[in-house]
Amino acid sequence: MSQEYRRVALIGLGLIASSMFWSIRRGNLAEEVTGYARSEATRDTARRIGLCDRVCDSAEEAVKDADLVVLAVPVGAMGPVAEAIAPYLKPGATVTDVGSVKRDVIQNVGPHIPEGVHFIPAHPLAGTEHSGPESGFATLFDNRWCLVVPSEGSDRDAVDRLRRFWEGIGANVEEMDPDHHDLVLAVTSHTPHLIAYTMVGVADDLRRVTDSEVIKYSAAGFRDFTRIAASDPTMWRDVFLTNRDATLEILGRFTEELFALQRAIRTGDGDQLFDYFTRTRAIRRGIIEAGQDTDAPDFGRSVNHPRQGGDPSR
Ligand code: NAP
Repeated sequence: MSQEYRRVALIGLGLIASSMFWSIRRGNLAEEVTGYARSEATRDTARRIGLCDRVCDSAEEAVKDADLVVLAVPVGAMGPVAEAIAPYLKPGATVTDVGSVKRDVIQNVGPHIPEGVHFIPAHPLAGTEHSGPESGFATLFDNRWCLVVPSEGSDRDAVDRLRRFWEGIGANVEEMDPDHHDLVLAVTSHTPHLIAYTMVGVADDLRRVTDSEVIKYSAAGFRDFTRIAASDPTMWRDVFLTNRDATLEILGRFTEELFALQRAIRTGDGDQLFDYFTRTRAIRRGIIEAGQDTDAPDFGRSVNHPRQGGDPSR
C-alpha cells in the first residue's frame, strides 16, 4: 500500500483512533502518526502502550505539519476541537472525522476549516462496546464499510486520497450524501442502540423485583442487548442529540410495528407473527451473505474476537 499521507494526526485517542493507529502501522501507511487526547491519563496510557509515534501535550502541536488530521472525539465535541486546531493546520492538509453522525459534524466543523485546507467527513462502520486507548485493534476495520461524505465543492484528488487511505486500513469505501447517511445509520445503528438501552433498562427495573434472576438466567437475546447497551454513554448521548430527526422518524415507525405485533399477540394471530419472523430471518441471511457477520453460533465471538486472546497484534 502506498503512503497517501506522510504525517497523520489523531485527535482523540479512543477505540476508533487507536484501531486506526494499529492498522496504519500494520500497513505502513504513514511515516509518522502523532496523537493527542484532552486528558493526561489518556496521553500517559497511550505513551505506555506505544500508541502513536509521538503523543503530544497539545492539539496544536499534534496537527502541526500533519497532512491528514483525523477528529476522533464524540460528535458533540467536533466543533470546539476543530475551532481549536484551525489556526495550526497546514495549507493543503486534509481534515476528516470518524463521527457517527454527518450533517451535524459538517455544520459544526465546516465553518472553522481555513481556506486551502480540505474537509472531507467520513464514518467507518465498525466498532465494539469498548472505549478508550487500550480498546483498539488493527483488524477492526477489515472488510467493514467506511462511508466518505464529500460536499459538492470537495477537491476530487483529496477525496480519492482519503478513499485510498481507508482502503489501506482495510475498509471498503463508498461515498454518500450526509442526510442519507444519517437516515441509514438511524435504521442500522442508532435506533437499535436505543432499543437495546431501553430493554436493558426495563430488565434492570425488573431485576429489583426478581432479585437478580435477570442476570443469573440471562439468555442469549438479552445478553446481546446488554453488550450493545454497554457502549460509551457520552458517544451515544451525542449521537441522539445530533441525529434527532432521523432517529425520531425511525422510532415512530418502530413503535407502529411494535403495536401491530402486540395486537397480533393479543388476538392470537399466529400467521401474522410467523410471516413477520420469516421476513426478518431473511435479513440476517442477507447480512451473512454480504460478509458483514458470521453465521457461527453466538456470532463466532467465543472463538474469534481479537479482544479474547485471538490476535496479539491488536
Ligand atoms: P472513545 O473510545 O470513548 O474515545 C473518545 C476520545 O475522545 C477520547 O480520547 C477522549 O479523551 C476524547 N474526548 C471525549 N470527550 C471530549 C471532549 N469533550 N473534547 C475533546 N476530546 C474529547 O470513543 P470512540 O469510540 O473512539 O469514538 C470516537 C468517535 O468515533 C465518535 O465520534 C463516535 O461517534 C465515532 N464512532 C464510534 C464507533 C464505536 O462503535 N465506538 C464506531 C464508529 C464511529 P479522554 O480519553 O482524554 O477523555
